Amino acid sequence: MDYNQLAELLFPHITKTPEDYEALYPKRILPPGAKVTRLGPSPTGFIHLGNLYGAFVDERLAHQSGGIFYLRIEDTDDKRYVEGAVDIIIDSLRFFGIQFDEGAAKNGFSGNYGPYFQSERGELYQCFAKELIKKGAAYPCFLTSEEIETIRTKQEANKENPGIYGKYALSRTLSYEEIETKIKDGQSYVIRLKSDGASEIPPEEMRHIEIEDGIRGTLSMPENNQDVVILKANGIPTYHFAHVIDDHFMRTTHVVRGAEWLPSLPIHVELFEKTGFEMPVFCHTAQLMKIDEESGQKRKLSKRKDPELSLDYYRNEGYHPAAVREYLLTILNSNYEEWRAEHPLADIDEFEFSIEKMSNSGALFDLNKLNDVSKDTLVRIPAGELRSFMLDWSKEFKPEIAHYFEENPAYIEKILDLGRGGDKPRKDLIYARQIFEFISYFFDDYFRIEDDLPENAKSDVAEILREYLASYRHDDDQSEWFGKIRAIAEKLGYAAKPKDFKKNPELYKGHVGDVSTVIRIALMGRAQSPDIWEIQQILGEDRTRRRIQKFAEID
Ligand code: GLU
Repeated sequence: MDYNQLAELLFPHITKTPEDYEALYPKRILPPGAKVTRLGPSPTGFIHLGNLYGAFVDERLAHQSGGIFYLRIEDTDDKRYVEGAVDIIIDSLRFFGIQFDEGAAKNGFSGNYGPYFQSERGELYQCFAKELIKKGAAYPCFLTSEEIETIRTKQEANKENPGIYGKYALSRTLSYEEIETKIKDGQSYVIRLKSDGASEIPPEEMRHIEIEDGIRGTLSMPENNQDVVILKANGIPTYHFAHVIDDHFMRTTHVVRGAEWLPSLPIHVELFEKTGFEMPVFCHTAQLMKIDEESGQKRKLSKRKDPELSLDYYRNEGYHPAAVREYLLTILNSNYEEWRAEHPLADIDEFEFSIEKMSNSGALFDLNKLNDVSKDTLVRIPAGELRSFMLDWSKEFKPEIAHYFEENPAYIEKILDLGRGGDKPRKDLIYARQIFEFISYFFDDYFRIEDDLPENAKSDVAEILREYLASYRHDDDQSEWFGKIRAIAEKLGYAAKPKDFKKNPELYKGHVGDVSTVIRIALMGRAQSPDIWEIQQILGEDRTRRRIQKFAEID
């Protein structure tokens, strides 16, 4: 058959040539070794940890090498389109410190390789479908869904591989005239790749292809033998075809994507071969896993079961972006934690991220570990910055408390810095929602008595507090202040040192710790807190006296 004639029959409206597109989207001029990466999300409005994880790899690879990281919206499946999804993607990633250099934007796009919405690139895909037709490497397929169903049933009964290949690729053998008649009759058709793969033999006997994966090393897989659809009946490409065309013409050097794409890699390899395009380096990232709380087994993170899969979860809880980045690096690169231990104060971007150090066996995600990393990260963030972070977070997620972080910066910064000086700083702060909870007793409207009084001192509460108020001098230094607590303890029959009490419990009602816990509860409502003296210095004399007084009266 004359394939050129067939190509004209199928794509009469396509007048541009491959050369036109090569000229329109020339090779990028970048420093040697510069990597070009992309994120290709579908606009479903749901952006998850896996997207961030992949985007982080893309961003590091590009920006560490002086390359380009761009955003391409893979919207060929319009059923999944959600209004505003692009803004959500851009805003969520920007929040976590990930910025694109070009690509889809809130209003249109920026860059010379656009449009960056696949739905607007129809002619380009059709031009290359036409090219494949001309080469005899693709063909129109008129199988209806019922016919495909019948084929599948037959294959199942014969225990054969499912799909359209070999003898099941019934449209492969149609003549030009037959095709022309079907088209004239208005029959709908798709364009399929004419795969070279050996079709009749079982997969284990198929020829194997070898591919170097940037993360996984050499992969050996059975070659593709399926006549996959490349253009759907409405002229829109499938993922496979759009990926190959776009990554070529957007000049992507490294395709970072989830391991769920590994099974279709042989299709992509064949498509790169048939189009004659150079293959990018594929980097298939590990799936994000977690330990299931119930079974104790490793499993994939699930949208339905795990709220922490959604990036909104971290925004809502108020995780600091620096903590999330820090944590992602710990699961992305096995040598990161060691580097951080050696460079506690270095900027995270000084770490040399490498794909070779990535795990390929499933990255284990663990919220407790994130919390630990977050504690260490927040200790390094100055109080002023934390205050503005708390302000931004509260404006969005807890507006009723935002004024606290705005009105009296000095007060807030002292609170946030509480116990954070010295060689062994306290690591109490984890994420905004928890931080507010942790410091809420500093705000009268949120101050409440949460814990029980110590059993040993219950009957002396009023007495302890009266003595305390009588001897209280706001200017006392820490040791003067503690001297007074000891004196009160001794006066009322408590051991001045816990160890004396332990030795001879029968001699005392309790020890100095019980006395200070009574004061803690009166001041903070809690039995555990950072240093009381320091807290009083922040609360100020009036508030301190008022709280003691009030509690003494209630009691
Ligand atoms: N649209 C694809 C997805 O959301 C992108 C995969 C890729 O990066 O190539 O899974």
